[in-house]
Amino acid sequence: MRYRAFGKIGFQVSSLGFGAMNLPGVPLEQARDALNYALDNGINYIDTAAAYRNSEEIIGESISHRRDEFFLATKTNKRDYASAKEDIERSLTRLKTDVIDLLQIHYVNYVHEFKAAMEEDGAYRAAVEAKEAGKVRHIGITGHRPELIAKWIQKDQFEQVLFHLNLAQPFALNELIPEMVRRDMARVAMKPLSGGFIRPVDKAIRYPYSQDVHVIISGMVSVDEVKQNIAAMEREVEEAERLELEQMAQQLSTHNCRRCNYCSCPIGIPIPDVMISSVVRQQMGLLAKGDGFYEKHREKILACADYEPCKETPLCQKQCPYQLPMQSVIQRTAASF
Ligand code: SF4
Ligand code: SF4
Repeated sequence: MRYRAFGKIGFQVSSLGFGAMNLPGVPLEQARDALNYALDNGINYIDTAAAYRNSEEIIGESISHRRDEFFLATKTNKRDYASAKEDIERSLTRLKTDVIDLLQIHYVNYVHEFKAAMEEDGAYRAAVEAKEAGKVRHIGITGHRPELIAKWIQKDQFEQVLFHLNLAQPFALNELIPEMVRRDMARVAMKPLSGGFIRPVDKAIRYPYSQDVHVIISGMVSVDEVKQNIAAMEREVEEAERLELEQMAQQLSTHNCRRCNYCSCPIGIPIPDVMISSVVRQQMGLLAKGDGFYEKHREKILACADYEPCKETPLCQKQCPYQLPMQSVIQRTAASF
């Protein structure tokens, strides 16, 4: 495990962070074991959010008695002052703590949402007030549009950003990470497996580990998963391996989807998941969870070709800020079944 100063925040943070988003899906005993095993084995960054069902409560139940051993990051997805303030107070209660180390304005993907959060009666003011009151130590932001976030951090209102960085989504490397490095900001990469799709796991974890980020948040739900993630970071990445991983990322990201979720499909095809996993699926095969995803959505994906309203102009493509050809990717996927 590597430890580095967390940008200007300065905390010596572990390179692996515990993503607690999926803990609500497993028995409490299992979640408690995984969290405590992580702390016992050098992980000192715990990531959750007010929106992750009862994830905050599980953390409060399981490790609040060890509060001085970890850096605690949570999030509010509210945009207005009053609701964000409520979220912060509830997070403190659920996490059983007096202070949150990092409060992130969560999932900001549209310009209008950013503006709303930053207005006088926006969520950002609630975060600043909580900081002044000693309830929050630092303020960050999370989102899926790296080039927009690179602009939004120009006024130094945030100390940290949480962004996607994995073999199928290397896009933060273009503008966002260099801008954050220039500003000595805390850099946290999420979803190394892109939500359970990318294999092999060790390469998937070692790719963001090879880049200039402080923490890689991996969603974990068991002691075995914690062990597997820690093992992937046992050795530093040498130059030859870094180049090999970067080449893989270049090939696996040709779909160009950022997972901004601007698109929607009237028949319920989860377009970003299909887009992002499309090249990985073709070239390397997927993790079991990824195969399960395709099994589950098979009928819908097959129905795309016959969906009358999209025959002339695909409805989804009109919504994509990157003008991606989603319909043809979905139909190629259907042809591969
Ligand atoms: S083209 Fe296919 S994926 Fe896109 S909106 Fe229409 S049915 Fe959905
Ligand atoms: S396909 Fe386009 S709109 Fe949909 S998530 Fe990807 S980048 Fe965003």
